[in-house]
Amino acid sequence: MRLVSFLNDGRPGYGIAEGDSLRPATEAFRARYPDLRAVLAGNAVAALPDAVADPVSLASVTLLSPIPNPDKILCVGLNYAAHIRETGREKPKHPSIFTRYPSSVLGHGVPLIRPHVSTEFDYEGELAVIIGKSGRYIAEADAMDHVAGYSAFNDGTIRDFQRHTSQFWAGKSFDKTGAMGPWLVTADELPDPAAQHLRTILNGQEVQSTPISDLAFSIPEMIAYLSQVTELLPGDIIATGTPGGVGRFRTPPLYMKAGDRIEVEITGIGTLSNPVADEG
Ligand code: ZN
Repeated sequence: MRLVSFLNDGRPGYGIAEGDSLRPATEAFRARYPDLRAVLAGNAVAALPDAVADPVSLASVTLLSPIPNPDKILCVGLNYAAHIRETGREKPKHPSIFTRYPSSVLGHGVPLIRPHVSTEFDYEGELAVIIGKSGRYIAEADAMDHVAGYSAFNDGTIRDFQRHTSQFWAGKSFDKTGAMGPWLVTADELPDPAAQHLRTILNGQEVQSTPISDLAFSIPEMIAYLSQVTELLPGDIIATGTPGGVGRFRTPPLYMKAGDRIEVEITGIGTLSNPVADEG
């Protein structure tokens, strides 16, 4: 199933995407589960297909991040060998973790906003893992049982702010600089995420390309590590890291600007596409 969250005439909803349309959850279902995070927390994904209304065109709604209101977004830095090399670092012993605010993450098709305080707006194509079942101290062997599904993620970054200090947060949480979508693909439809391939495309030109199997820390390793720190909750998002080819380490650097289009394509999931606009 492909689960979407959206605004329709300003009213939030969620449902199942099928081709060019979506079937929204009924009012009765939404009264019980107001958003997709609540559907995951209520273990109600399997009940959703029996609780949807007539289809509407996907083009008639504004897509949100599939989980617009997660408890937390955990990001893993330096998680592909090629990206570790281009930053001049060694393979780390432990995953490098930072967080993003949910307000920094938009849905598919919505313009990403380059803030007026920087020209160093960079892309990072990533696989997002969405937690379905809560857990603390999750064993690697059990980790995949805690995954609800997957999505494409753009960990859009304001590079100069990322490097103002040793803390990444400032460069990673600018409002409306990241995106996730177009949908959450449920885990049953993607039994082997490591067998998928990720590409990032800027204005039609490929800028990143990697098999997901090149992750330095695997999905179970990330879940096990993160759940030692904090209880993972339904709807939590893990952005699993970006491969080589980010704009900062190109010669000359390649940053996003108004009028650009940035796409993150993952086989088995789809293509997250966003235009770029300057802050008004
Ligand atoms: Zn990243």
